[in-house]
Amino acid sequence: MGNGNSTHSDAPRLALGDEGRGGDDAAPGQAVWHVLIPLPLPGPLDYLGPDDLCLGTVVEVPLGGRLVVGVVWGAGTDQVPVDRLRPIARVFDVPPLPPISRRFVDWVAPYTLSPAGAVLKLCLSAPAALEPEGQEMVVGLAAIPSDTSLKWTAARRRVVDTARDLPPLPAPELARLAGCGVSVVHGLVAAGVLVRTGRDRMPPPRPADPDHAGPTLSDEQADAADRLCAMMAAGRYAVTLLDGVTGSGKTNVYFEAIAAALRDGRQVLVLLPEIALTAQWLDRFAARFGTRPSEWHSRLTGRSRRRTWRAVADGTAGVVVGARSALFLPFTALGLIIVDEEHDPAFKQEDGVLYHARDMAVARAFLDDIPVVLASATPSLETVVNVDRGRYAKVALPDRFGGARLPDIRAVDLRETPPERGTFLAPSLIAEALETLARGEQVLLFMNRRGYAPLTLCRACGHRLACPDCDAWLVEHRLARRLICHHCDHREPIPVRCPACGAPDALTAIGPGVERIAEEVAARFPEARTLILTSDQLHGTADLADKMDRIRDGAVDIVIGTQLIAKGHHFPGLTLVGVVDADLGQSGGDLRAAERTYQLLAQVAGRAGRGDRPGHVRLQTYDPDQPVLAALLTGDRDAFLAAEAAERARRDLPPFGRLAGIIVSAPSAEAADAAASALARARPAVAGVEVLGPAEAPLAVLQRRHRRRFLVKAPRGIRLQPIVADWLGRVRLPQSIRIKADIDPYSFL
Ligand code: ADP
Ligand code: ZN
Repeated sequence: MGNGNSTHSDAPRLALGDEGRGGDDAAPGQAVWHVLIPLPLPGPLDYLGPDDLCLGTVVEVPLGGRLVVGVVWGAGTDQVPVDRLRPIARVFDVPPLPPISRRFVDWVAPYTLSPAGAVLKLCLSAPAALEPEGQEMVVGLAAIPSDTSLKWTAARRRVVDTARDLPPLPAPELARLAGCGVSVVHGLVAAGVLVRTGRDRMPPPRPADPDHAGPTLSDEQADAADRLCAMMAAGRYAVTLLDGVTGSGKTNVYFEAIAAALRDGRQVLVLLPEIALTAQWLDRFAARFGTRPSEWHSRLTGRSRRRTWRAVADGTAGVVVGARSALFLPFTALGLIIVDEEHDPAFKQEDGVLYHARDMAVARAFLDDIPVVLASATPSLETVVNVDRGRYAKVALPDRFGGARLPDIRAVDLRETPPERGTFLAPSLIAEALETLARGEQVLLFMNRRGYAPLTLCRACGHRLACPDCDAWLVEHRLARRLICHHCDHREPIPVRCPACGAPDALTAIGPGVERIAEEVAARFPEARTLILTSDQLHGTADLADKMDRIRDGAVDIVIGTQLIAKGHHFPGLTLVGVVDADLGQSGGDLRAAERTYQLLAQVAGRAGRGDRPGHVRLQTYDPDQPVLAALLTGDRDAFLAAEAAERARRDLPPFGRLAGIIVSAPSAEAADAAASALARARPAVAGVEVLGPAEAPLAVLQRRHRRRFLVKAPRGIRLQPIVADWLGRVRLPQSIRIKADIDPYSFL
């Protein structure tokens, strides 16, 4: 588990400075270079290349039997005899990775205990961007038609006749003009009758105009914007929490900081937790700045990724809005980072390099000496504690914009007013929903569980339907007619008979998911126009945007949704929010369970009454006295956070102590136990550092791998990474064992 740093970084030839020449034991004009390859290797490899390469140059190098992309990371050494080194095969015509990107990789790798190559991969995640800029493939007639024994069908002849009169065109376009399928065109390319060439394509993004539509801010917003602009004017590293209640207009306020950065010729990165949020955000951005920003997230097409990556690298992208991985784009002149909904758990990356995008954003800003804004109505305890310690500044927006009031929040005590047998909505909530609909207003029913039912049970033999590969129940998705494992995405048809005892019609759904609530709604409110909003029911971002528009325009009466609907959106006609199960998500060993539930419910509640009519929120619960609900009912967020903070401090948990999760997995339970024991025997003996475990992970089997966990705890003053790296480095384990180190874990499954 190397940290990827060169062991020779103190070699004297680096004294030439950042852009220094490579090792000079090679032939004249040639040098030895360390090249970092975006693969989980222990560190950079040495290659021969021209001696005038600058650090950060993107190259192609041979590795094993293939060619791979790499980045010139440093001057090489004479450790390997020059005649054994292989040459750099190609230098890409793209701007070199800027020094700050390289420093960021070299910082994130040891922080997350990941190989530097694995972090570099995040920076190079648009392979198409490395090819010549602005080109698209077009086809035209070959200068010298090849002599083929091609059969000249009518369609082929039409294509050639069409191509003769026109400049080269993209294959689909040529096919359309010739009235045939695109395969006919590809066939002619294969036969050498047509040739493919590149052609310039991409215009740079239109620059955002900071003065396009200057806003009219309320006095409170203007004060907040002034403070952010003062931070921009200082232009140094500083973290500011923009702490504003839902509907206070945080977006409009931080837009002013963006405008300041743009006037200064700097780039801006805005991180949003979920792409589901971006549609409304993009419209608002366009209204303010006259054009759309560049986008970056996993659902972009290869072409758009390439476009954003290039535009960021050559500085033509002024503002990028994206998911967490946008942090690794090669910004050359970044002047501001905004992390919106900074408390959102989606900022934690749980595969590959395990990192928290909010924390890495702060680190990136620190390395680059630029300001960061963290925005939220329900800030994380980490951030609140940093404000209390004076490390972060705070700008508050305590009121909703335009006189809208915060909703009144009340509990529906299910012990006193239980729903009818087999249903989940209490009579009083149903009555209020009917009144709301009668006034022509909208209702949101929140049920944060996908599917129809979380468990299916055989009434005859008690068998429970479980995932074949995980230690988890299968969730019935009635609309998709599938049982789905929410951990590994295993899918199977819903059986008619119990697979264990064969009894027909004995399988029973236990507990509600969002689809089951929708079924109840359809039965209770047959006249109402309803919409289910869950990630299962979505067909891309355009579909989501369309559904959001329908809600906003009043084409829907009742929305039944998961957390997809909880955040960020503005629906002026929505006045009643019913939380079907306010107790969900509070149990389990997760240290942030209460905090997270509070945040989620406060965000859902924040959807109510954002227009000119007052909002109401009803929380269905069996325990209205628990602290999370009490905090929501009294509206005393800060008292809740203070109590949470005291409890975490008492137990030395984050943000008062440090944690690392170590997850050991193996193909069998025995192998997992053996590996866990070997690690346990080698556990670090460092004063103040406590190693808990090994214990069976709550999700004991995942995708057929048996899992064991350790939890390493230390006071804030101790850096855990070197201790964990040393520990894991000392134990030799069989190939089949995988170990994941999770610094600052958010998942404890
Ligand atoms: P938050 O993100 O704080 O929940 P938003 O930024 O979504 O709040 O703002 C809530 C609503 O109020 C949005 O529809 C927004 O367009 C509107 N709004 C906020 N500030 C202003 C303003 N200064 N002028 C006009 N509309 C505003
Ligand atoms: Zn599974």
